[in-house]
Amino acid sequence: MKIPKTEVIIVGAGFSGIAAAKKLFEAGISFKILEARDRIGGRVYTNYLKEDLYVDLGGQWIGPTQDRMYELCKEYGISYFETYDEGKNILNLRGKIRTYKGIIPKMDPVSLINLDILMRKMERMARQINVHTPWSHPKAQKWDQLTLEDFLRKNSKTKSCYEVIKIGCETIFACELHEISLLHALFYIRSGKSLDCLINIQGGAQQHRIEGGMQRIAEAMATPFRDHIIFNSPVEKVIQSTDHTDVISGENRFSSNRVILAVPPPLLKKIHFEPGLSSEKSELLDNYAMGRVGKCFMIYQTPFWREDSFSGQVVSDDPLTHQTLFDCSTVDGKYGILMGFTIGNRADEYFGRSEEDRKKRMISQLVQYFGEKAKDPIQYIDFTMSDETWSQGCYAGLMPVGAWTTWREAYRKPEGNLHFAGTEAATVWHGYIEGAVRAGEAAALEIIKKKNKEEA
Ligand SMILES: Cc1cc2nc3c(=O)[nH]c(=O)nc-3n(C[C@H](O)[C@H](O)[C@H](O)COP(=O)(O)OP(=O)(O)OC[C@H]3O[C@@H](n4cnc5c(N)ncnc54)[C@H](O)[C@@H]3O)c2cc1C
Repeated sequence: MKIPKTEVIIVGAGFSGIAAAKKLFEAGISFKILEARDRIGGRVYTNYLKEDLYVDLGGQWIGPTQDRMYELCKEYGISYFETYDEGKNILNLRGKIRTYKGIIPKMDPVSLINLDILMRKMERMARQINVHTPWSHPKAQKWDQLTLEDFLRKNSKTKSCYEVIKIGCETIFACELHEISLLHALFYIRSGKSLDCLINIQGGAQQHRIEGGMQRIAEAMATPFRDHIIFNSPVEKVIQSTDHTDVISGENRFSSNRVILAVPPPLLKKIHFEPGLSSEKSELLDNYAMGRVGKCFMIYQTPFWREDSFSGQVVSDDPLTHQTLFDCSTVDGKYGILMGFTIGNRADEYFGRSEEDRKKRMISQLVQYFGEKAKDPIQYIDFTMSDETWSQGCYAGLMPVGAWTTWREAYRKPEGNLHFAGTEAATVWHGYIEGAVRAGEAAALEIIKKKNKEEA
């Protein structure tokens, strides 16, 4: 079926596609959004288990300098609250369980000094990166030929230092550390302000959660133009001609002047383009894998660990369990929720097991950390976007060795009538929801500017 022409077609109703649509809507530019799923939000997915109990299966936190997210909360009157961050944290290193306060775990003095020096070095290197042109740094070639793992191994003089920084970085990047280049890691850190900011709860990227769940913000943004979204419409083909572009989904053919593609890299790669995308973009897409992470929630009648002065935060090198745990209880503390991240190879191993097995394993881990009260949860739920057809991984795309210096800005560069958004196109808060919003707005602005120029 041929659908009447609009000025713009947006592919993907994640935060980036919705942010682009919001900008176009405000500028009075006609558009439709084609979304493969039957919901909006993409890698953000709030799951209501009861009226007063929900979990964010995808993105959930915001923090300082994520200015657009706070502005959106303000615009829609959506409240946010502090992530619980009081009491003792736990470190499980080589089977030994210790408690500590603050962000640096209790270790032997040599490892502590090593960790401090290593983190400062990463901060210093990241500060030198221009997020708009990471390939322009004098040492870019060298840093792009190293994996993050190479760098951390070389700079960790003790096993404990390496294990702790490894777990921290796995939690930040959601991958095995050989899967990204050092340059990508430094870009990502700079893009999110600093390593400290990416790691921290207080003053960092994990400071706040959204009351009612993160998906609420996307829903509020989309309310004025909800009827512009066409659900269950995976885009298979995009055909550009001189005066218009056709976007094909199943039997439907949509026509527009311009297209914004706001989908994750592996799904962009699956779309057939006529004419084909530039060789730079296509080659990058051939090499652009996604991170792998699962979120596992154990839900209790109360956050009982708080009574025993535990924060709920755990860092663990045990390959059979979660890298990190956080207190994700409800805002009123009515239900106690512990959320564990299982990442990279650990995620593959964990999600290769039955749900019953996964639940048992998490309970026994929590009993080890927080005692017998952890034996009686009211519910277990876990989820990984790696298994989702329309995400194929998370949190975001991974720039491997050589990618930044070879393909530079190829991912986000417009091609003809095609504009590229999604968090992977972001320079600031790349990989985060804030980045998705900024990249969507930037793609919409490219179109608005071109239109104004054409009309001038
Ligand atoms: C487990 C997890 C935890 C995270 N935690 C945080 C966090 O705490 N804070 C934070 O800021 N970020 C977090 N992130 C990252 C954040 O969620 C993402 O960066 C952000 O949501 C990406 O938004 P996007 O719009 O770029 O892409 P997506 O959300 O992936 O949106 C893309 C949309 O395109 C659709 N689509 C795909 N292919 C097609 C097609 N061919 N045709 C039509 N539609 C298509 C998809 O269905 C999807 O709706 C997390 C992510 C995950 C998965």
